[in-house]
Amino acid sequence: MKSDVRLDGSQGEGGGQILRSALALSMMTGRGFEMDRIRAGRSKPGLMRQHLAAVRMAVEVSGATVEGMEIGSTWLRFAPGSIRRGDYQCAVGTAGSTVLIIQTVLLPMVYAGGGSSLSVEGGTHNPLAPSGDFLERSYVAQLARMGSSTSISIVRRGFYPAGGGRIEVCIPEKEWRMGGGYELVERGGLKSRRAVAILNNLPDHIGHRELKAVQDRLHFPDEEIMMDSAPGGPGPGNVLYVEYEYENVTEIFTGYGAHGMPAERLAAKVCQEVERYHKSAAPVGDHLADQLLLPMAMSGGGAMRCTALTPHFLSQVQVIQQFMDIQITTEREDRLSWLVRVH
Ligand code: ATP
Repeated sequence: MKSDVRLDGSQGEGGGQILRSALALSMMTGRGFEMDRIRAGRSKPGLMRQHLAAVRMAVEVSGATVEGMEIGSTWLRFAPGSIRRGDYQCAVGTAGSTVLIIQTVLLPMVYAGGGSSLSVEGGTHNPLAPSGDFLERSYVAQLARMGSSTSISIVRRGFYPAGGGRIEVCIPEKEWRMGGGYELVERGGLKSRRAVAILNNLPDHIGHRELKAVQDRLHFPDEEIMMDSAPGGPGPGNVLYVEYEYENVTEIFTGYGAHGMPAERLAAKVCQEVERYHKSAAPVGDHLADQLLLPMAMSGGGAMRCTALTPHFLSQVQVIQQFMDIQITTEREDRLSWLVRVH
């Protein structure tokens, strides 16, 4: 019988990610955990609706028993059962991030051999979370390189704060390739790039101005820019993203439009992230780095080169090492390049 893990939710980054990672690790390793000081690093600590939805989903998928599952709770005890195949559904409520819910249970479902599906309603494009596009083409594409054939469909986009989007995930039955050997240390050649302005219930000129600013700064020809006004959830929404598809990795840099944020300023922010990424040769950008650690650890290890060790990344290292007997080492190669090994 493996012992339970005791976690301090205020450690490292001190937000919701520590909880989501603990849930995923608990389901996969079979070790229960107790966490106190949940989200102590945030202005409204404790479980918010979106975190509660993640816990509920984890309980459903793994038949866990749980205590402390209430809004505002800063303490949780979670004892997983075994992961159950099935067709799961969840509504996060308004624009809680669907992607963060999916990232809580997807890996355990893959790890358990697939044969499941998941449909989640809420926000698909939320500030401070991976977008549905990022989930599909950056994150899940890397799971494919580890042997998973998960597919993602953004059925309808939902924007903060109104939500109303839906993402469907299908995880066919398939053995998860274990034994390590995952490597993402070079980008490989550039296959395509594009800048996309997504608009929902907002005038087109916003998108045109954003794309013009990207063209001026990053020198994208007309064929590499596009407007996307496919109908989404009820509220207004504007997202600008720039996507680079390399042979080994796709990186997506996302900016979220907001009241009082001029289109040009949003574009400048996104372009700055793109330029920073290209000052480095590392394939893995800041966000993908923290998200890849968990699948790397569960698939038996490997190596990646990333642009930074963010607070989210360092928190992930701590949580993973509390659940697993695994080494995660980092070596700085230059200002914007770190070699990370998991073994
Ligand atoms: P809290 O409400 O406690 O801040 P949270 O549950 O909303 O927490 P975080 O703990 O901040 O979320 O974790 C957010 C996750 O979203 C991290 O994995 C981070 O790398 C990822 N993320 C944030 N912004 C982006 C982005 N623009 N693109 C891709 N991933 C992102």
